[in-house]
Amino acid sequence: MTEISRRTVLGTAALVAAAGAMAPAARAGGPRAGSMGTWPSRAKWRALDKQVGGRLITTSLPWVNATPQTFELLKNPFWNEEQPGALQSTGWYGAWTAAASPYAVRAQKTSDIVAAVNFARENNVKLVVKGTGHDYLGRNMAPDSLLVWTHDMRTITMHDAFVPQGAPTGTAPVHAMTVEAGTRWLEAYRAATLAGRFVSGGGCTSVGACGGFTFGSGFGSFSKRFGTGSGGIVQAEIVTADGKVRTVNEFSEPDLLFGVRGGGGGTYGIVSRVTLLTHPIPSTLGIITGSITANSDAAYRELIEKFVEFYPVGLDNWHWGESVAFGPNNEFGFRLTFLDMPEDQGKAVIERFVGQFRSRPDEFTVDPKFQFLEFKNLWNPDYWDSVDPDFITRDPRPEAPDYQYWWTGNQGELGAFWNGYQSRWISTDLMRSNPTEIAEAFYRASRLRSFIFQVNKGLSGEHPEARARDEKTALHPGCFDAAALVIMASSQQYKYPGIEGRKPSAKTARELGGDINRAMGFIKDVTPGAGTYSTEADFFLEDWQRNQWGSNYPRLLRIKRKYDPTNFFRVHHGVGSEEL
Ligand SMILES: Cc1cc2nc3c(=O)[nH]c(=O)nc-3n(C[C@H](O)[C@H](O)[C@H](O)COP(=O)(O)OP(=O)(O)OC[C@H]3O[C@@H](n4cnc5c(N)ncnc54)[C@H](O)[C@@H]3O)c2cc1C
Repeated sequence: MTEISRRTVLGTAALVAAAGAMAPAARAGGPRAGSMGTWPSRAKWRALDKQVGGRLITTSLPWVNATPQTFELLKNPFWNEEQPGALQSTGWYGAWTAAASPYAVRAQKTSDIVAAVNFARENNVKLVVKGTGHDYLGRNMAPDSLLVWTHDMRTITMHDAFVPQGAPTGTAPVHAMTVEAGTRWLEAYRAATLAGRFVSGGGCTSVGACGGFTFGSGFGSFSKRFGTGSGGIVQAEIVTADGKVRTVNEFSEPDLLFGVRGGGGGTYGIVSRVTLLTHPIPSTLGIITGSITANSDAAYRELIEKFVEFYPVGLDNWHWGESVAFGPNNEFGFRLTFLDMPEDQGKAVIERFVGQFRSRPDEFTVDPKFQFLEFKNLWNPDYWDSVDPDFITRDPRPEAPDYQYWWTGNQGELGAFWNGYQSRWISTDLMRSNPTEIAEAFYRASRLRSFIFQVNKGLSGEHPEARARDEKTALHPGCFDAAALVIMASSQQYKYPGIEGRKPSAKTARELGGDINRAMGFIKDVTPGAGTYSTEADFFLEDWQRNQWGSNYPRLLRIKRKYDPTNFFRVHHGVGSEEL
């Protein structure tokens, strides 16, 4: 166990005490319309409670009957993650509404997960699994279900020479780390940094390192350099629908390995721990924020086309990550990173794009800002406090671990009721061959909605080492040629369905959701056949099998049928969910 996991365990102890105040779940048993049939008797729930060491708990949505203080706490992603019934999103118009499972197994070990799986299967109860509760599509919850809540499982182990179980003699060991199911990326990054290593994970500090992110591909700021979360999976321990604990790696259950390398969370089983490849820690990072603002629509249209032309020649390589943004106010926003590239060189690349607008001050206001840091400081809140305190928000609770923080920019995604959310990969070849058409579509979309062009969620320009790993995953093949993922989203923040005075507005949702449909329509028209990232896809996605996994879908479905022939694990638009 590393220093980080000890601190995590200490942090957890207080939370376990708080949740202990919940009524023993067995008390709430009895007749109930389960989502899949008759609800198990109290005696059965009591037996499960005993089997899991008294860790069967009741759950509720924390915003129901909440005090003003609770509504303040709901603005803290880490507090949310400590509540068994909380979710980071509260619903999606016309799609899903947050619900709490009557019961949860507060899993602390793999045998707790096995007990929950067997109980749900034998009693015909819908089973759901939640680590951090970040899912946009509501796949981490269901009414009248049993929840497996993995938050307490956060031990991290670093390995200098990891050899997968069952590997033939002579298999070269790798640097790796094993994280338990509830681990958040901030914890994984700290452990890796302390060991002088890097692990390829998500941008948001509070997203989980083992559930929806890693098994649904998972992109971080440096994916073009180190590849996807799924590509980094060396081994996983998975409880499948039959209640078996399987060790999955290239030599043992290789089919299932393909399934969980991008086939999606909550689909093939419940993962109790995963071992991820680590890399030597990068040396430096440049960050560009700020914007270019055009003072007329015509100037903005020109700027967009210049960017579309610039990306393939200037940014299409593994050094670059994060995003640029377009919007109705004629602003082009920077939130780009450059990894392991000298500061002058990174600035010079950006200057090639920016210079042409700087020389026309009557038409453009040009304001990029640069930061340059040693990479090891990236996940160190003390560093951010010393250079740019507004960049991060520290967890203000006195009992919170002192390293716990989130990027201030992620605050907007908390307590979100989604009006709409759509994404689409944009091919670099298309940008190169048809910049005018792409730029026109971007411009027309930008009149209706802001959107980001997230370069680290498209893998063209990916480092060859990372590409070799990602090609073994279930990722939609169209991502390999994609410059970026365009994401268009709209939400009503801190809105809680059913809570008087805090309900989301259906009218707003319809209007803003409609804008997204129209705006994305322009982009779809010029990118026929382009796929999308399954973890950040539209709830109403059409032809979702092809759009999310492309030619990999038939193989994913075969694996699903082999390991879960009754579709015991099923999530919205997950592999096999059409066969219900
Ligand atoms: C603020 C914010 C920032 C984000 N940033 C990024 C980003 O930088 N890059 C990116 O790629 N994505 C990002 N996402 C999307 C994120 O990857 C997905 O929401 C993902 O589903 C989260 O996974 P989780 O395990 O943390 O969340 P959860 O909601 O706990 O789980 C999500 C899904 O995974 C399944 N699951 C959870 N635990 C397990 C388990 N142990 N075994 C099997 N299945 C499990 C659940 O069934 C559910 O379907 C972000 C989301 C938010 C809200």
